[in-house]
Amino acid sequence: MTGRWEGSTRRDELPADWPAIRAAVLARDEHRCRQINEGKVCRRRANQVDHIRRGNDHRPENLQSLCAECHAIKSSREGNAAPRVRRWRQAERHPGLI
Ligand SMILES: [Zn+2]
Repeated sequence: MTGRWEGSTRRDELPADWPAIRAAVLARDEHRCRQINEGKVCRRRANQVDHIRRGNDHRPENLQSLCAECHAIKSSREGNAAPRVRRWRQAERHPGLI
């Protein structure tokens, strides 16, 4: 485990019964997004299932329903956590921009 995952094909790590697991998690969460933004649960209609902790833990307790928007935000945050990306972002900052 190097922590670098750009080259990993996450889809390949999903178990054969993923469609069933995914459907069960969405049903458990009543198809509502469980992402918490600034202390509030999103609750928009969820159509995606996310791993709370990245890896190969596909148990329901490590899975949560997310809407497409929150999933995209979470995925990009996880990408930004890589030191290489953080350096790049600092280099790209312009003093005139917020
Ligand atoms: Zn959401």
